[in-house]
Amino acid sequence: MAVREAIPKPPDAETEQEVSSFAKALFLGEIHEQLVFPWPRPDPGERERIRALNAGLRSYCAESYDPRKVEEERWIDDEVLRDLGEIGVMGLYVDEAYGGQGLSQTGYARVFETIGEIDATLAIVLGVHQSIGYKGISLFGTEEQKQRWLPDLAAGRKLAAFALTEPEAGSDAYGIQSRAVEQPDGSWVLNGEKRYIGNGSRADVITTFARCEVDGKDRHVALILEKGMEGLEVGERYDTMGLRGNDLRRLYFKDVRVPAENVLGEPGEGFRIAMQILNNGRIGLGTGSVGATKKLLDLTIAHVTEREQFGRPLADFELVQDKVGWMVSYLFGLEAMTYMTCGLVDAGVPDYSLESAICKVAGTEFLWYAANRSLQLAGGQGYLRSEPWEKIVRDIRIFPIFEGANDVLRAFVALGGFKPVGERLEGLGDVSLGDPIGSIGVLVDYAASRAKREVRPDRIGMAHQELSGHADAVSGQVKQLAGETERLLREHKGEIIERQFQQKRLADAVADIFAQVAVLSRVTAIFDDQGVEASGQERFIAETFCERAAARVEGNLGQIESNDDERMTSIAKLSYRRGSYGYALFED
Ligand SMILES: Cc1cc2nc3c(=O)[nH]c(=O)nc-3n(C[C@H](O)[C@H](O)[C@H](O)COP(=O)(O)OP(=O)(O)OC[C@H]3O[C@@H](n4cnc5c(N)ncnc54)[C@H](O)[C@@H]3O)c2cc1C
Repeated sequence: MAVREAIPKPPDAETEQEVSSFAKALFLGEIHEQLVFPWPRPDPGERERIRALNAGLRSYCAESYDPRKVEEERWIDDEVLRDLGEIGVMGLYVDEAYGGQGLSQTGYARVFETIGEIDATLAIVLGVHQSIGYKGISLFGTEEQKQRWLPDLAAGRKLAAFALTEPEAGSDAYGIQSRAVEQPDGSWVLNGEKRYIGNGSRADVITTFARCEVDGKDRHVALILEKGMEGLEVGERYDTMGLRGNDLRRLYFKDVRVPAENVLGEPGEGFRIAMQILNNGRIGLGTGSVGATKKLLDLTIAHVTEREQFGRPLADFELVQDKVGWMVSYLFGLEAMTYMTCGLVDAGVPDYSLESAICKVAGTEFLWYAANRSLQLAGGQGYLRSEPWEKIVRDIRIFPIFEGANDVLRAFVALGGFKPVGERLEGLGDVSLGDPIGSIGVLVDYAASRAKREVRPDRIGMAHQELSGHADAVSGQVKQLAGETERLLREHKGEIIERQFQQKRLADAVADIFAQVAVLSRVTAIFDDQGVEASGQERFIAETFCERAAARVEGNLGQIESNDDERMTSIAKLSYRRGSYGYALFED
């Protein structure tokens, strides 16, 4: 269900603003504010359903879900999974026609926040199931495939997995070695090996990917495997630091015969399908981080207001307030950005790949630092196994690594921004941003939308008047971002794909700009709803977020010119040669 009816179209076709991605346009210096104003909200009917699902989930889990027991037994009881299916949380976005809840991306995220608050393992098992496991069927499946699989998956009678990673292909997923060969009868024979697959031995339906030949070319194919297929073997289970209830496995494919009707999308489209699924899944990690941080904040506030040292509650000390104030203000910004991205998906914006990567990177890193600071404030108690912090820290450490390692996603964001700028610049010669970008998934074509963009809006005019100072500041940052992007591209041309220090700065800058725009949109809606006077707290927190984010943007863009990147590179290379630190303090 769409959160917003449609993106408003300007009346004059000549000046039509058509843009495939809000964040990509920022690199061009364009602010397509009609995509992000007004603030997106679910309709009242959906809100009611979200409330009911969350209430059902909370009361069921309070009675019947024990995170410690799941960790000890290393799996969620099958009966619990069945019950959760009955509550409706195994098929949140699936159309009601296939037995799901038919929620929008926003609705899905709201319920997943609650799941994340209850337990990270629960969030990962249910997330692997629907966020990536059967998302491909829902996005790319034929009507026959949807009817065949979705009702059981949405009801929780069956469980799904997503198998992309291989021993030789982790971050570089384009390089998978599993191979599928088409047979004369249209079926495929699959051979290969996958590793680190969540829900591995439990899944009834597995979306997987393999190399294949299409018209003589080496491509990828997406396949749906089913439990019990001959040659599909489940390997050993990994013993992990956290998420210990997640059934993480190797999978072996030994001449698995996959019928033609189990091919997802067109053969040759497999990599694009995998990336599209992950684009969507990454938003869930962003909003899941919002939910998990809310829980950490509750724990932190309860602890620092109760615990006294030096005759006062910990809450009174400035360095405690520094941590709590940071958590609240950043959470406000992150929440705005992740739900803005959900709104873009719900409004039908075709390309949200950069926004979802930004949410995943910002969310998972914020959660990690928030957990670390929260544990710090809990003191020795935070380190005890009987307390919640140590489990949270162990569980979430993987978040910045999986579904695209954050380093790789920063490169993805920056290179995704360079692409349209490179296409627009004249006199640049042949800037090939081909393969390395392709291999990390920046495949969405921007050119189609370029031709029509006669108008290049570079200011925010739809924010509330009271926020005009911040809106102008953000407009200035966008200009600066575009200027630096163009300058870097002119300087390095195709070599820009190797300049990761600079990519990181641009990726972090665009994330902070996007977050500020989202905050402005959110607070504008709050002002409209409850009036400026009554919105003092929200305004104060929002302005704090924007000022800090603006300072980070300035820092990142400033360092493009003035940095010690070459020194870092030299020191790293020296240490590779030496093979260790090796600078003796004294001989011993
Ligand atoms: C608990 C858990 C659950 C998982 N669930 C699933 C699942 O359900 N399905 C599935 O398919 N996979 C799953 N994975 C796999 C996961 O997605 C991969 O581990 C991840 O993609 C990273 O791949 P890798 O481990 O091979 O690390 P590598 O690709 O070897 O990367 C290691 C590190 O090197 C750095 N790096 C890599 N490339 C670059 C680059 N180009 N530039 C700069 N730095 C770089 C990054 O810091 C990265 O973290 C899971 C993994 C774990 C641990």
